[in-house]
Amino acid sequence: MNDGLAAALSEIVRDRTRVMTAPAVLDRLSHDFYWYSPILRPQLADKCGDVAVQPLNVDEVLALLRFAGGRGIPVTVRGAGTGNYGQCVPLEGGIVLDLSLMDKLEAITPEGVAVCQPGLRLGALETEARRQGWELRMYPSTLVKASVGGFLAGGSGGIGSVMYGGLRDFDNVRAFEVVTMEQEPRVVLHEGPAVHEILHAWGTNGILTRIWFALAPAVEWTQITAAFDTYAQAFDFTESVAVSADWTKRLATVFEWPIPSFFTPVKNVVRDGKTLVLVMIATAQADAFRASAERAGGEVTFSGSYEGPRTQPLLSDYTWNHTTLWAMKADPAYTYLQCGFSPMESREQFRLLRERYRQEILFHIEFMKNGDGVVIPGAIPVVRFTTEARLNDMIAYCRSIGVFVANPHVNYLEDGGRFRPDHIQLRAKQKYDPRGLLNPGKMISFRKQEGAA
Ligand SMILES: Cc1cc2nc3c(=O)[nH]c(=O)nc-3n(C[C@H](O)[C@H](O)[C@H](O)COP(=O)(O)OP(=O)(O)OC[C@H]3O[C@@H](n4cnc5c(N)ncnc54)[C@H](O)[C@@H]3O)c2cc1C
Repeated sequence: MNDGLAAALSEIVRDRTRVMTAPAVLDRLSHDFYWYSPILRPQLADKCGDVAVQPLNVDEVLALLRFAGGRGIPVTVRGAGTGNYGQCVPLEGGIVLDLSLMDKLEAITPEGVAVCQPGLRLGALETEARRQGWELRMYPSTLVKASVGGFLAGGSGGIGSVMYGGLRDFDNVRAFEVVTMEQEPRVVLHEGPAVHEILHAWGTNGILTRIWFALAPAVEWTQITAAFDTYAQAFDFTESVAVSADWTKRLATVFEWPIPSFFTPVKNVVRDGKTLVLVMIATAQADAFRASAERAGGEVTFSGSYEGPRTQPLLSDYTWNHTTLWAMKADPAYTYLQCGFSPMESREQFRLLRERYRQEILFHIEFMKNGDGVVIPGAIPVVRFTTEARLNDMIAYCRSIGVFVANPHVNYLEDGGRFRPDHIQLRAKQKYDPRGLLNPGKMISFRKQEGAA
């Protein structure tokens, strides 16, 4: 089956080297960082595509989807495979559509909008944008590897979100072209509010092939770390910086001890037993920030300029979901949750969680702006895993005390915390993929339509 399918795909793209069937290659291209979750690990380890293909342009994507649709073959898109929940893992085999070769930056407009293909790496975009006086509004800590298309289809926000909100907010994503899996696949332009039909839908209802992504004017940034005796001190100080419009910042992060002890390559910035604060702050404000941190009882342990993705050390490598990676390296029993604490009730929520779970939950805060413009304590707490029941208990308890949880231990959109309650992603799937061939199994509320062959 694989050989026949590979031969047919080779004919479509007229290049056998862009069609892959070697088992090790297929296994790699069929997986992401799903293994972060002890629940997903056994569920997804053996899932694999039958063949992978790397299109070079939208015409090839259209031709490949026409072929696959006509034969009822599932198609699962892959950007760079840095997703966390097995988003790009093909549950029903079929074709893995690897878009890594569609990586052109077409232009940066005078208004600061990047126009690009989906496979463009965010790090490459950040580097070129800064050369032209712009920079990414927000990016995941996987900046260097992750693709623009994968970020829009699978991510939510990251470094920069404390100023610019998430991907869904403030017109950060201006528009994109989407290839559909209809009887006759076509390219559909989604602009303005219509982007929300496809954003963060994991490639289940269309394939992004051309993207208009808003940038921000470039800022000279300084990375600073400060150690505080207590979590409360560190949280209070960082919150005051995060919520104040007077500080120009890209990151405002708090790591409760012992999380900093996991950061072995930068152990010189860590102080034994202390909570670590990490910020990216406008260089023009760096002196004032250091003085302010010291007044609040912190010891500044590092200060150095950010020079783009190649900066050494690149301290964002310890933030967002990289923190979990360092924790798992230190002790594989660690996993994580994705939370949003209440800006008014967070201290009480921390107290309740600590009382109930003790050191099973370690606080890792990432301040971010929500869609209403309010800066909130987002969090990716590090959690010591024992059983699935205990993890589910923690999720349910968080929700019962008003802590939002996007569950990273499920492999479908609906419980991942970012499924649209207005169902516009589901309606787009019914319209653009009525046969349910795009990344099947990931949008579980979808039902194949009567008569869709
Ligand atoms: C260490 C680590 C840190 C992370 N930090 C963050 C973070 O700070 N913020 C954050 O939001 N995420 C974070 N993530 C998750 C992930 O890195 C981001 O979501 C990233 O942007 C995914 O990009 P990718 O190119 O690797 O996408 P992939 O993993 O390849 O794909 C993600 C999803 O999008 C779909 N997809 C890919 N390309 C397209 C396309 N062109 N059209 C339609 N669907 C498509 C795939 O099918 C899949 O469902 C992190 C993950 C890791 C492992």
